[in-house]
Amino acid sequence: MVKAVALLSGGLDSTLAVKLILDQAIEVHALNFTSAFCTCNSGGKHKEEKGGGCRSEAREVAVKFGIPIKVIAKGLDYIDVVRNPRHGYGKGINPCVDCRVYMFKRAKKYMEEIGASFVVTGEVLGQRPMSQRRDTFMTIEKESGLTGLILRPLCAKHLEPTIPEKTGIVDRQRLLDMAGRGRRPQIELAGELNIEDYPCPSGGCLLTDKIFSKKVRDLLDNKKDVTAKDLHTLKIGRHFRYNGVKIVVSRNEGENKGLKDMAQDGDTVLEPSFPGPVALISGPAYDGEVEMAARLILRYASKKADAVGQGTIAVTRDGKTSEIRVSDPLLNPVSNPVSNPVLNPVLNPADDKTIEGLRVC
Ligand code: SF4
Repeated sequence: MVKAVALLSGGLDSTLAVKLILDQAIEVHALNFTSAFCTCNSGGKHKEEKGGGCRSEAREVAVKFGIPIKVIAKGLDYIDVVRNPRHGYGKGINPCVDCRVYMFKRAKKYMEEIGASFVVTGEVLGQRPMSQRRDTFMTIEKESGLTGLILRPLCAKHLEPTIPEKTGIVDRQRLLDMAGRGRRPQIELAGELNIEDYPCPSGGCLLTDKIFSKKVRDLLDNKKDVTAKDLHTLKIGRHFRYNGVKIVVSRNEGENKGLKDMAQDGDTVLEPSFPGPVALISGPAYDGEVEMAARLILRYASKKADAVGQGTIAVTRDGKTSEIRVSDPLLNPVSNPVSNPVLNPVLNPADDKTIEGLRVC
């Protein structure tokens, strides 16, 4: 039996593409990619009931169709793609053309491993301005080593016949001629094919988000060896840069624990004794950075917290904890109000101007 590898996101387009190929009696093996930048993985609307995002949606589609699925996480090598894309970015820091090349190269490897003959995707000509154009289709095919071997069943009739069509493995007459950004044809086809419950039709990639992109850019500009925790931290809290050091301040109680879990060797975690956010200083931090992180905590601490003035902030680095008393002069003994009342006698919350000057996003 002829085999094909299909990129399956769990969205409507890739689901339809798989169905059209299965209907031609071809054995389909699904391939699903996850990444730290996928909004679906971090909480699709079906997360609660199904356990998490596109990956589970893709699995569910695979189960429904009775086909095998392999999930590949875009690893740290993908960061190089985001850092230096050959074909540039979209409206955010999304390197869509290079990203597709990355995925298709992995698909090619899998295709060869399992003895499949071609790769299927749910792409539609003209649906995405950057990666779903005729010229970029050709670039992506060439750079991934899959020229003539990427079949796009939803829009195949607008494109040159692929090798599986030319050799008769796939019947071109049964492929479609969808194009453009509208989704009505896909929704109608889903009805005809009895495909329901397609929760993530347009996918979700944080790299296309302009605000999130600023955080990614800041990270890439300031850190050479990015870690998985660095990537996950991008999704938590308010991000600031002070003296070249990154300070992240949680936005709510739910993020407090998440942020503490993101601490890596050499990082510093500040945690108040009063209701307020946790701060994480990424990388080497001296008194000035710790003081600024504490001032940021005070800025975002609950205004109702009477205990703030008498409270403490625990400062933990590499397993060792010390304390700052909020009402006392900070870390530097020369600022003691008794010996030198001119210098900062208490820890002041960061003011608006300071916040705006330091804010990454
Ligand atoms: S939107 Fe994101 S996941 Fe999709 S091709 Fe672009 S960079 Fe890749």
